Amino acid sequence: MVFNDALRVRETARAAGLPFVTSAELSRRLTAAKKTPKRAWLGEVSAVVLQQSLRDLDAAYRNFFDGLKGKRPKTGPPRYKSKRDTRQSIRFTANASWRITAGGRLRLPKIGDVKVKWSRQLPSAPSTVTVVKDSAGRYFASFVVETGPSEVLPETGGAVGIDLGLRHFAVLSDGTRIDSPRFLRRAEKRLKKAQRDVSRKQKGSRNRDKARLRVARAHARVADARREFHHQLSTKLIRENQAIAVEDLAVKGLARTRLAKSVHDAGWSAFVSMLEYKAARCGRTFVKIGRFEPTSQVCSQCGAKDGPKPLHVRTWTCGACGAVLDRDTNAAVNVARAAGLAVSACGAQVRRALVPAQRGEAGTHPKPSPARWEQAGIPGL
Ligand SMILES: [Zn+2]
Repeated sequence: MVFNDALRVRETARAAGLPFVTSAELSRRLTAAKKTPKRAWLGEVSAVVLQQSLRDLDAAYRNFFDGLKGKRPKTGPPRYKSKRDTRQSIRFTANASWRITAGGRLRLPKIGDVKVKWSRQLPSAPSTVTVVKDSAGRYFASFVVETGPSEVLPETGGAVGIDLGLRHFAVLSDGTRIDSPRFLRRAEKRLKKAQRDVSRKQKGSRNRDKARLRVARAHARVADARREFHHQLSTKLIRENQAIAVEDLAVKGLARTRLAKSVHDAGWSAFVSMLEYKAARCGRTFVKIGRFEPTSQVCSQCGAKDGPKPLHVRTWTCGACGAVLDRDTNAAVNVARAAGLAVSACGAQVRRALVPAQRGEAGTHPKPSPARWEQAGIPGL
């Protein structure tokens, strides 16, 4: 509101050929406006927040003018903020006298104490808080904090290669298989139900609007649950390993195929970038493997290349060294090897064959590959 009022004052002045209205002048008008009945409610909002709106407008103008002068890429002139833009935010800086109470509540000027569900501990005292209301009607507080080099973790010897797959979210070179957790799958199920409900409601009806809001909420919950899962897993991997290797997703070459949706759903790239920044922050080595020999064609034990295998072949015996190889683990070990990491792959997943290969373990299979595998293990398809 303040933003739009102030923008209107400046635009009116410009249209009338008057000089640019200064921020000091706007601030004076703001104070005067608080005394009018129509804008009396502004007095109930923290003055710092109102000033912040004016500063945001100034910043928008500065960017616009700098663009005209060629100092930065061109941007359009400041625009009125739409009332229908359902995402709203307010920012409290250090001098807005907000604080976190001893009981863990957020005390905001003119608003009072707000209960907060903390997603994590703040590493240090925050300087600024931004409260955002999203389109699903939920409130979030995000804090600006200083982080020091204190987050570097003590060294560990571990190294791990990660194969991001479709049957499992990830398989580690030690044979661990990681699937998306139940809370994420449940959220995805609820989203699907909500989406079905919308299509059943009559167009333009109030029930349809309500159902749409439920979809927005369910959508937000899925995004939250997925982010939470990525955070938990990436933090664990970074803590336990000194070096982490993953395959470059561009190389994986799945994103352009019809698997694009499931790849997108699996959220690999968000996960990989978390690994990357956490590794940098914690003093770990992170390696993204570029193009290298197809992981399923090379024995991770002896390096022998024995050709492609249909996707339904999950284990096979290396013809050269006799190792029984698990497809996923073999790939993860190969990722680690290609990154120059020394990983032990002598776990249960890679063992010497003591008996002749069973049917289904052989590298080739007489039956044609069924197309069914695309759906395997992908929640939300
Ligand atoms: Zn071999």
